[in-house]
Amino acid sequence: MENIHNALEKLATFSSCPSDIGVTRILYTKEDLAARAYFLELSRDLGLEVKVDAIGNTFARWKGQQPDLAAIGTGSHIDAIPHSGKYDGTVGVFGGLAAIDQLQQEGFQPKRSIEVLMFTAEEPTRFGIGCLGSRVLSGQLSPASARTLSDPQGQYLNEVRKAAGFTGALDSVLLPDNYYHAFIELHIEQGPILEKEELDIGIVSKIAAPSTLKVKLKGEGGHAGCVLMPDRKDAGCAAAEIALAVEQIARSSASPDTVATTGILEIQPAAVNSIPKAAYMEIDLRDTQIETRDKALTSLQDQIRYITGKRNVEHSMELLNCDPPAICDSNLVETIQNICENLNYSSKVMISRAYHDSLFMAQRFPTTMIFIPSKDGISHRPDEYSSPRQIDKGVRVLAQTLKTLSSSFNL
Ligand SMILES: [Zn+2]
Repeated sequence: MENIHNALEKLATFSSCPSDIGVTRILYTKEDLAARAYFLELSRDLGLEVKVDAIGNTFARWKGQQPDLAAIGTGSHIDAIPHSGKYDGTVGVFGGLAAIDQLQQEGFQPKRSIEVLMFTAEEPTRFGIGCLGSRVLSGQLSPASARTLSDPQGQYLNEVRKAAGFTGALDSVLLPDNYYHAFIELHIEQGPILEKEELDIGIVSKIAAPSTLKVKLKGEGGHAGCVLMPDRKDAGCAAAEIALAVEQIARSSASPDTVATTGILEIQPAAVNSIPKAAYMEIDLRDTQIETRDKALTSLQDQIRYITGKRNVEHSMELLNCDPPAICDSNLVETIQNICENLNYSSKVMISRAYHDSLFMAQRFPTTMIFIPSKDGISHRPDEYSSPRQIDKGVRVLAQTLKTLSSSFNL
């Protein structure tokens, strides 16, 4: 295989924005399809058996000597939000191929099959929900719910996927039990910890539980000069008070891991001399523990009812997603710790506060993640960066992990 660094550079050219402002690769666009074709080409060069499911999840399998045994899976995603970087997700997909390449060159013969899985759409850009492919294949989003998803142009997932050439039945996407013996995702950290502590590798013990709440507020508009204060139903002020409540609830949580963000807040009609008649908000709330996350979510919903009631503003709330956290498999974590020690790479066990496809894989199969440092902790930006040396170390650890697991019969 071409070396991974060249492959990542080439992959970055499949983008719908000029390279000086980053990489944009949205699900089922021609850039996404070209990137997928490139993955298939490299997979076939390595002699891997390729399979693509009805939503576009792509499997490239190095058949083991005992192909009936549950396989060892690895992989990540290649979709990229507008103007993002070259490494988020892609390192795990092409790193999987690079790890197989390494093992093949060493003459290694796996007992269990080793499979690279390229997930469809980890980013929520097109259909508003993150980890689309892994949710459906792990059974955490039903085909019926997936069919109702539409993009900002109003096109349904079902139509768009078929037009892109993924024509099978969505019901066939679900993976059977025991499909993977273990699943390992290599990924950039997207945070500052490894770099700050000068460590080579992070091994993920837990992935925080995300939830997203959509809130619509309806007040009453009017002239900013003529409607006196006691008569107002200002949707903008209600939204502002809710945003402060979001912050307060996270700050006063019993768990230090509770984080909450009002990432979207739009008011209408957004004119300087007009009282906001409506507001739209999307709130992200996460925690490593489901109890404190759910408690914060309930008190946020109560606060929204209280604030809108007090201000005479109508509200509607919709929980876009509310996922459990993932507890990673402790034996896998230990296995990778030992591998790092043998390779003389420094490592630490850590929590992933961003979520990944592994959040959903972990609900079905023993799973963990391998992190490599991100320069300045930056991600989802054009200047996202991990050095070739850091990537090589991640691939090395992944290769050794796949090697060990493909010969293991218990975890
Ligand atoms: Zn990612």
